[in-house]
Amino acid sequence: PPIIVWFRESLRLSDHPALYAAAASVAPVVCSYVYDQESPELRRLGGATRWWLAQSLRALGADLQALGADLVVRRGPAAKVLGQLARETKARAVFWNDVAQSGPRAVAANVESALGEIDVASRVFPDDLLIDPSKLRGKDGRGPRVFTPFWKRVLALGDPPKPLPRPARLSSVSVVASLAIDELALEPTRPDWAGGLRATWQVGERAAQGRLARFLDAPVRTYAANRDRPDVESTSRLSAHLRFGEISPRQVWHAARFAAAERPAFAPGIDKFLSELGWREFSRHLLYDNPDLATRNLQPSFNAFPWTQDGAALAAWQRGRTGYPIVDAGMRELWHTGSMHNRVRMVAASVLVKHLLIDWRLGEQWFWDTLVDADPGSNPASWQWVAGSGADAAPYFRVFNPMLQGEKFDSQGSYVRRWVPELARLPAALIHQPWAAKPLELAEAGIALGRSYPAPIVDHKQGRERALAAYATLRTSD
Ligand code: FAD
Repeated sequence: PPIIVWFRESLRLSDHPALYAAAASVAPVVCSYVYDQESPELRRLGGATRWWLAQSLRALGADLQALGADLVVRRGPAAKVLGQLARETKARAVFWNDVAQSGPRAVAANVESALGEIDVASRVFPDDLLIDPSKLRGKDGRGPRVFTPFWKRVLALGDPPKPLPRPARLSSVSVVASLAIDELALEPTRPDWAGGLRATWQVGERAAQGRLARFLDAPVRTYAANRDRPDVESTSRLSAHLRFGEISPRQVWHAARFAAAERPAFAPGIDKFLSELGWREFSRHLLYDNPDLATRNLQPSFNAFPWTQDGAALAAWQRGRTGYPIVDAGMRELWHTGSMHNRVRMVAASVLVKHLLIDWRLGEQWFWDTLVDADPGSNPASWQWVAGSGADAAPYFRVFNPMLQGEKFDSQGSYVRRWVPELARLPAALIHQPWAAKPLELAEAGIALGRSYPAPIVDHKQGRERALAAYATLRTSD
């Protein structure tokens, strides 16, 4: 009787412990993906991640086909769907990789009991994380709350297990009914807003491996110095591939270590790169301890924060019309490509929660819907970090100056020029604060401030003072 491999977040063939084990047995294998919109324990995907998922499933299906297997796609509550698939195929077991989060684990527990009732075995393999969160407890039984000691502990544990190879072939079960990916209706149709995403991304395991190889071949050398610059492509752009497990952190780790050994000049860039992977890991560990990370302030003092309700300001921010060029460039990059440079994410988020006094949860939800890498750990953890309500967070009173951030990290203004074309003709010295230009300079650049491009939605100095006054109303004792 066959073994079903339930693909969850590891949408790849290599370093896939459940698939590897199933392929190593003599049993035929049924590879399945269940699109589960019903289980209440799971956070519904946003628009951009649904688009990514569709491409990723197509890539996985094609890769499986090359090994002689089909991807059986179904929809519905995972426990019900897998129970039925097990009966249909007379499977003896279902194998899957763990997803070390409370919601997905609760769903997996339901799957296990549904299978148990029909005498089908379940086998759970390790999660994609470098280290299982349950293995990294402090003396108080709780997980890490400060990044630096967390990362030191992870490094002290030494290398994670070596990645597993992809199976050479799969003996599969033929003719099992499957939905076509289109039937999942993951992609937008009317309107089809995904043109920018299609133009930007190659999705799937092969694309992820290619990206990693290209990054380690050169850009990583200058990563430590350039990673904050949105005007050059200096980072790996692997986050969405990692989000869907098209590549595992173990694969990234070992490839990076290998590159560092081959080319010692790359080692500092590689250490920095791996520590960023560490932030992803840290965020997932925070999520493990705080399943409500996207909705609850980790610091309860923030529950009393006097957020404002300002729909017009929120909409201006979402559409990239705040009048702060670096922020608007980022928000438009996000809308068009489903991604935004990390430095710009920080500045844009800071302007929302500080200059506009809008609850970080509204920003988190917008990112959740529009980012192709929208991650249940990294997104809320980063928002809480910026807002100051999180673990090991940037203090609220540290208010980014969007002009200085622009001048420092996009010094020639080329990032702003690319995404805010109405400012393209301003010289670098003015592009991060068009309101400081003289009327003649604006006229020469073809800008009608307040019409073709907005004046700042709130003056920086006033916004800063208002934010600090709001913060001062919090009780800081708890
Ligand atoms: P690289 O610089 O090449 O880094 C390598 C990998 O490390 C990334 O692919 C990513 O997996 C991880 N990483 C890097 N920086 C961080 C970080 N600060 N926190 C957590 N992991 C990190 N990242 C997401 O993956 N999903 C999100 O939903 C997300 N939301 C964010 C929201 C805000 C407000 C902010 C400030 C940051 C957010 N980040 C998120 C973190 C970071 O911006 C992205 O991971 C990074 O920009 C991805 O680009 P890259 O793959 O080129 O990163």
